[in-house]
Amino acid sequence: MSKNNYKVVWLSAGISSFIAGYLVKDTVDEWIYIDVKDQHPDSMRFVHDCEKILGEKVTILRSQEYEDVEDVCRKTGFISTPYGAPCTGVLKKKVRKNWEQEFYKREGHMNLCYVWGFDEKESKRADNMRLNFPEFTHEFPLIDKGLKKEDAHALSISLGLKRPIMYDLGFPNNNCIGCVKAGMYTWNLVRKNFPEVFEKRAKMERDLGHSCMNGLFLDELDPNAGRRGEVIPECSIFCFMAEQELNGEQPIFQVVKTA
Ligand code: SF4
Repeated sequence: MSKNNYKVVWLSAGISSFIAGYLVKDTVDEWIYIDVKDQHPDSMRFVHDCEKILGEKVTILRSQEYEDVEDVCRKTGFISTPYGAPCTGVLKKKVRKNWEQEFYKREGHMNLCYVWGFDEKESKRADNMRLNFPEFTHEFPLIDKGLKKEDAHALSISLGLKRPIMYDLGFPNNNCIGCVKAGMYTWNLVRKNFPEVFEKRAKMERDLGHSCMNGLFLDELDPNAGRRGEVIPECSIFCFMAEQELNGEQPIFQVVKTA
């Protein structure tokens, strides 16, 4: 690793980002995970298992301003916007930006290189990442090696790494339990596996007068609605900003401090 380059793997507590980093592990300077209270507790088990395999510590970051997803939604007054979900913006993007500020203060001359778990089917996303964030260098080891998500899962099994339990429960990714970006099928999985979270989100929707699913409130959701295979974007530390920048807009919500 050149001393002008600092390589970071942003772990998402999903298989792809870990395996992508693992493929270039000898050149990685730091592994970072941004923890959100709404993630299943098994996510932290997964991160610690990654540490054991790597023989290295993962830096754990958390928002110092907001407690959890509901705290963000209630204080901003929004659940989701056409430009992204405020919770991604403050619980992940802002935390990542704070880390970068500290990094540049400390190591101003260094270039940051980020490693991503996009697979060979996601080369368009990789192009967009390079286009939208030219201030960083980006690496996509799965794409470079022509690997699919399934290959990454197979590799994790061979390493003895047990995937986060959310996948075993049928969730399409390891986003927060009750992710505001979820669709009907996934919300019904939340209702079945985590009824208390479902109830809390349903109440929050009514209190705020906004719904997670485009006008369909959770307390109206047919328990049989939705179908397996629903595609839900994995919550990324960059997706919120990318959505905004692609739309050429500033965030449309304002943080309203409550007592
Ligand atoms: S996973 Fe979903 S609920 Fe959690 S921060 Fe990301 S968008 Fe918000």
